[in-house]
Amino acid sequence: MLVSEVMLQQTQTTRVIDPWTRFLEAFPTPTMCADAPLSDVLRLWSGLGYHRRAKSLHDAAKMISDEYDGEVPPQVTDLRRLPGIGEYSANAIGSFAFGHRVAVVDTNVGRVLARALLNRTLSVRDARVEANALLPRSNTASFNQAMLDLGAQYCTSKPRCESCPVARVCKWNREGGPDPAPRSAGVSRPQPTFRGSDRQARGRVLAELRERPRSTQHLLASLVGVDVDRGASLIAGLVADGLIEQRGRVVRLSGD
Ligand code: SF4
Repeated sequence: MLVSEVMLQQTQTTRVIDPWTRFLEAFPTPTMCADAPLSDVLRLWSGLGYHRRAKSLHDAAKMISDEYDGEVPPQVTDLRRLPGIGEYSANAIGSFAFGHRVAVVDTNVGRVLARALLNRTLSVRDARVEANALLPRSNTASFNQAMLDLGAQYCTSKPRCESCPVARVCKWNREGGPDPAPRSAGVSRPQPTFRGSDRQARGRVLAELRERPRSTQHLLASLVGVDVDRGASLIAGLVADGLIEQRGRVVRLSGD
């Protein structure tokens, strides 16, 4: 659950399934992940992008191994201490893995609440407050899953009200008026364009280093369309993030 939540933070489900399967085969326990070099984790992260998440997950595995006897802590407050785990992920793990009575609010759920419950635009904070107030006394994981599914499959940016299972009680559907969630209640941000981005170039550098250590010169030459100054800055950024190491002219994945 924890691994999938981190992988799903900025990547679509269909792209997560294979890396998630490979990851759990390689690291069936947090301690096995913690004991492996970061380079092994980065190789398993191929295809997912946003590689800082891989380092966060590796750091989280180390914290779980060192401070929680190798077991993922069940309390949401402890989950929030783990690197890379924010409020949404901690609540999702707390609800779905441990059955805690906490609301799981993403963009989709924020949209459902703004339309079906209140027919008014909600801030991120308001959406979380409303979601927690709406939680039933029991079966909260099923409730959270239903809200996520409702937002993902019916109450999308172009809602399918004619077939929606809560259409009869939906406030916006009954009262009408302007869409109260034209921008998805602001619970998450849209992703910037990938092509030509620093993110794409960073991914290219890491792809080269997954094969073997490379010279700086080789890496800069591999960044087609990226000038030398920008390329050097990107490599320095990856070093600063702890994802790669540079010794003299040779660059390698951290831990290789
Ligand atoms: S009836 Fe329409 S607006 Fe209301 S929850 Fe369903 S899909 Fe969303």
